[in-house]
Amino acid sequence: MSFLASLQLALYALMWALASATHRDERPALLHWLGFSLTAAGQAALVAWRPDGPVWLTHTGSSLATILSLALAGRGVLVFLRQPPRDGFWLGMLAVALPALVWIGPGDTPTRVAAMSGFNAGLLMVAFWLARPAFVQEFGLRIALCATLPAAALLGMNVFFVVQGLRRVPVDIVGANAISTSTWVLTLVSAAAFNFLFFFLVTIRLLQSLRRQAGLDALTGLPNRRAMQERLQLEWERARRYQTPFVAIATDIDHFKRINDRYGHGMGDQALRAVAKTLQDHVRETDHLSRFGGEEFLVLMPQASAATDGLRLAERLRSAVAAMRLSGPDGSVIGLSASFGVSEYLAEDADSDQLLRRADQALYRAKHQGRNRVELQAS
Ligand code: GH3
Ligand code: MG
Ligand code: MG
Repeated sequence: MSFLASLQLALYALMWALASATHRDERPALLHWLGFSLTAAGQAALVAWRPDGPVWLTHTGSSLATILSLALAGRGVLVFLRQPPRDGFWLGMLAVALPALVWIGPGDTPTRVAAMSGFNAGLLMVAFWLARPAFVQEFGLRIALCATLPAAALLGMNVFFVVQGLRRVPVDIVGANAISTSTWVLTLVSAAAFNFLFFFLVTIRLLQSLRRQAGLDALTGLPNRRAMQERLQLEWERARRYQTPFVAIATDIDHFKRINDRYGHGMGDQALRAVAKTLQDHVRETDHLSRFGGEEFLVLMPQASAATDGLRLAERLRSAVAAMRLSGPDGSVIGLSASFGVSEYLAEDADSDQLLRRADQALYRAKHQGRNRVELQAS
């Protein structure tokens, strides 16, 4: 039984090793769980070696391996949740456990069973308690409850052994009798639940970050055209249902090609980032700013009207861009300006593209009338 347990835990270690090789962002936590699985596998291998192996290694050594594995699992969870790792606690537990287990001696006495199970239960409880708030916040209560089940089962088992040990009932936790079989089964089921759960959570986090990145423009960090289309559709449906107006402001940097031609593409990219930042600094939280195209940006303003809020914001953005000064690679000062077209949702629009088309027409007019200006859609 303990040989099979060791093999299973070693396979988890292999899983974490592969995951940490490919998944850099979570590597610190994954290496902890690799360590957890390896020490747990080592512990089971030491037990399998009984009674032939040296008693200090197969008993005291295996107990310490258990405590170390739980500490690694718990610290890994805190690292994964971006929480302080609480090294004082883990090191303190190890510093107490080591002399205590050496002093108690290697025999399977009730005192030893109570002490070992007490350390395990303490580690489980504290790790669980420290991880709880951040875990619930990121993954929600339902997944948190699922995670609680195996931890609670393992905790219950250890508390049971503490009580048995204190009542001086001789229990053979890892030997060949019935109680040892259920101990192993429970331990292995909990280990499997832990490993699969956290593998699943790592995957969820990866998917969430991929989804976020798919909607972001790599150069400026603003939402990209795709994210804007989704948002536009949402605002358009909301406006249709509640009859609340909303505004689109299209903007295009003036003579941007000159910057690229004169100072190089790198400087052009720098200017784009700077304009994105300026626009971002001047829109409100509720406005949706996106990079719509090369040097074109779009603002969606929910619950706003073009002639008042729209014009006011566009004018504010225009003067902010016009006030920008960048320093060129040759030390020269580069001034910028942008043109703006403002349009508003109309109930008779067949689809959301018509709103964009009107903003584009207004922008086109602003360009033709000399640039660095704001134009409102034709009524
Ligand atoms: P106008 O005032 O009429 O808008 O003049 P313009 O020069 O800005 O006109 P146009 O829209 O034709 O040029 C846009 C240029 O923006 C062309 C393209 O090379 C450049 N551009 C588009 N995307 C990027 C980018 O990601 N980085 C850089 N450096 N340049 C870009
Ligand atoms: Mg342009
Ligand atoms: Mg353009």
